[in-house]
Amino acid sequence: MVLYVKKADDKFWHWCKNCSKYPELEDISETMPQKPAKNLCPECYGKKEDKDCENGKSDNKTGVATTKGVFARRYGR
Ligand SMILES: [Zn+2]
Repeated sequence: MVLYVKKADDKFWHWCKNCSKYPELEDISETMPQKPAKNLCPECYGKKEDKDCENGKSDNKTGVATTKGVFARRYGR
């Protein structure tokens, strides 16, 4: 299942974890289990068209890196 996420100060919904604008876990303000009707991120859309969109349950390199980044920030101070 793809989860759509949105940052509080961003009007676009993202669903590709390798999108450069994909919010950090702690910055996500809203989530949607279904495709939003509007304001889809153009970069995520392009990745989907190119079949380069990383999402879903498979733990990929980006997901691990993101998790590590969050941990580093939380425990690194
Ligand atoms: Zn995006």
